[in-house]
Amino acid sequence: MKQTKIVATIGPSSMSVEILSEIINAGVNVCRLNFSHSEHPWHAECIANIREASKQTGKTIAILADLQGPRIRTFIREDIPLSIGDEALLVEKAIVEEGGDGIGIDQPHILEQLKEGKQILIEDGKIILESIQKENGNLRCKVTMGGVVKNHKGMNFPGAQLKLPVLTPKDEKDIRFSLEYDVDYIALSFVGRGEDIITLRNLMKQISPEKKQYPMIVPKIERQDAIENLDDIIREADAVMVARGDLGIEVEESRVVILQKEIIEKCLFQVKPVIVATQMLESMMENPRPTRAEVSDVSNAVIDHADATMLSGETAGGKYPVEVVKMMTDIIKNTEESPFDDVCDTLEMRLKSKYAFMVRGVYEFARSNNVDAILATSATGYTARLLSHFRPKTSIYIATENPITHRQLSLVWGVKSFLFEGESNEDVLIELLVQKLKQEGNIVSGNEVVTVFHATVKLQRVKEEKKS
Ligand code: PEP
Repeated sequence: MKQTKIVATIGPSSMSVEILSEIINAGVNVCRLNFSHSEHPWHAECIANIREASKQTGKTIAILADLQGPRIRTFIREDIPLSIGDEALLVEKAIVEEGGDGIGIDQPHILEQLKEGKQILIEDGKIILESIQKENGNLRCKVTMGGVVKNHKGMNFPGAQLKLPVLTPKDEKDIRFSLEYDVDYIALSFVGRGEDIITLRNLMKQISPEKKQYPMIVPKIERQDAIENLDDIIREADAVMVARGDLGIEVEESRVVILQKEIIEKCLFQVKPVIVATQMLESMMENPRPTRAEVSDVSNAVIDHADATMLSGETAGGKYPVEVVKMMTDIIKNTEESPFDDVCDTLEMRLKSKYAFMVRGVYEFARSNNVDAILATSATGYTARLLSHFRPKTSIYIATENPITHRQLSLVWGVKSFLFEGESNEDVLIELLVQKLKQEGNIVSGNEVVTVFHATVKLQRVKEEKKS
């Protein structure tokens, strides 16, 4: 079993039950729906297909809804070709709507916040402008990298510290949809500070006050302000995504790997699962084999101790959705089996609660006594995340009666969760877990297992089944 989990973005290449079943069997643990694309009926069909594929394969899958957030885009009537040295005018959307010239910005109150002497990137930096001068509410720019500007392409303003609403009206509709369809995680794009996460959490409570448990919130780290407010964001988050696509535009590309390592380390300290995303095996969109640099990138994320690595276009729209998952699984397994996966002995933990120390003791005990497995009950998933945080060599098996927790644990490094719905007695849960693990051959009679339940610890030898 691989320990690092795989998040796969679902799109036209992977949305059928047949392909979903294949990618799940190949190693996918979490399916991501990207709300920057497609309408609700399409997402609803995808969710139904994911659940069907999960049933058919017998594998637990979490669903992550990724909100578009306040992405700023071009608004133009027809393509605008630009060459280096040309001048271009950035204008409000309304001016283009009224028949005026210029590159419209589709969101209000952006133009007024832009300053002179700054870069403006269009379509992931394929086209670059430099702002020269404000003129009657417009912004005159010089083209420093040419290309054809198209409608509805993403715009980035590195270092502009724009004040943006963290949730747009579209996001709010997508949140309502996600709550209605009981997704397990919601990813929040363009987060700037911890308060943005609280805003989403409060909105979910307001929309569905009757829910006992809400989707976990995954802020995407992709803005300069998010880097500045990283500790604050990680503290409020349930999990984190290193969204390297936009991050590589908002800060220098050459810093992305270092930031990835810094974000992962901080998440580990705070016991928050962390996903490394974007362009991991990008060339497999078109080719059956990845580049060596891409293989190295996935390996490196595993060595960094990420909980999960993510596929975007590779599974959503690429030609080889199944092969790319198999490739990622192989890279993860080979890396985890190598001695280089264990760069830190005992990961430092910044949590100082008594319970956290007790779980740390279990990890230390399992390590020094070569225990065969760590078993635990977990209602919210917290015990499982604490155990996982130490990245033990010993397998972690969790018994839970909670189907939401059960699915959410699909994202967490090294955790294999079993659902025993309707059973709240912890002694019975552990009993059922031991039986299940024996049936599946994960443990055998005579194995020594350490168990965390009732917030205490028990060491036991697995007994032979009584013959009747
Ligand atoms: C990213 O920017 O890396 C990312 C994951 O976000 P999106 O796919 O929404 O651009």
